Amino acid sequence: MKLRFWGVRGSFAMSGKEFLRYGGNTTCVELLAASGQRLVIDLGTGATELAKQLMATEFARGKGELQVVLSHTHLDHIQGLPFFTPFFVEGNRIHIHGADPAGTSLERTLQNQLAPYYSPLEGLENLAAEVSIQPFQPGDKLQLGVFKVSTAAVPHATMWTTAFRIEAEGKVVTFLSDVEYPDPTAPDPAAVGLALGADLLIHDAMHADEEYGMRRGWGHSPVAAGVTVAEAAMVKRLALTHHSPDATDDQIDGMVERAQASTKVPLFGAAEGAYLDV
Ligand SMILES: [Zn+2]
Repeated sequence: MKLRFWGVRGSFAMSGKEFLRYGGNTTCVELLAASGQRLVIDLGTGATELAKQLMATEFARGKGELQVVLSHTHLDHIQGLPFFTPFFVEGNRIHIHGADPAGTSLERTLQNQLAPYYSPLEGLENLAAEVSIQPFQPGDKLQLGVFKVSTAAVPHATMWTTAFRIEAEGKVVTFLSDVEYPDPTAPDPAAVGLALGADLLIHDAMHADEEYGMRRGWGHSPVAAGVTVAEAAMVKRLALTHHSPDATDDQIDGMVERAQASTKVPLFGAAEGAYLDV
């Protein structure tokens, strides 16, 4: 299985020369199976770059099919949706799976994003592709082609987001972004369960450890929280992601180096770029 980060920035997209190496787009991760099937996690602004690549394939002819799972519907995780060009080609089939936000439905939330006061698209029904919105309950297990996806709710400020354990072709990728544990220094049992033995754990690392005190309660993790989960779950590799929009490339390098010095778990800062082998 291959994996590519199309967006690793948290909260809002950044541009500028200090953000070029890690990238300024918000969350979007592509998993690509040997069979050619894809699973996309989140449609942040990084999805617009993924879209360009897809439009060089069968998606340009209306023959593409894509499974998408959404961790939650905060803007930085869905902002690429109105600009995701495979939606504009008739015949493409795109399935969006996500939990209903508290007090509303996933479909209504995504419809709102395309309402006339936000977008000229004026609704999901105006997208040429066949788009299905498929809600799940956290805790559900989904079989999406070759991808077996376990889901769980994890705390995110006053709400929660969905974390994923994705198994395919004998490999495991766990996605734990937009999470803040009640005690970031203690391994959270639900998080450890999802990440147990994973080949790759992708974890929220929005805050430098020394800044976390001022940012507590914002729904994101200090770098050390991901390391704690990675060690407890005995993962093979840890990718730190959801970089703060304030964090320059050099600052992220520093956070990664300090984290590497604190643990034996191999880890790196997630960056937009090439496909990785999982
Ligand atoms: Zn986010």
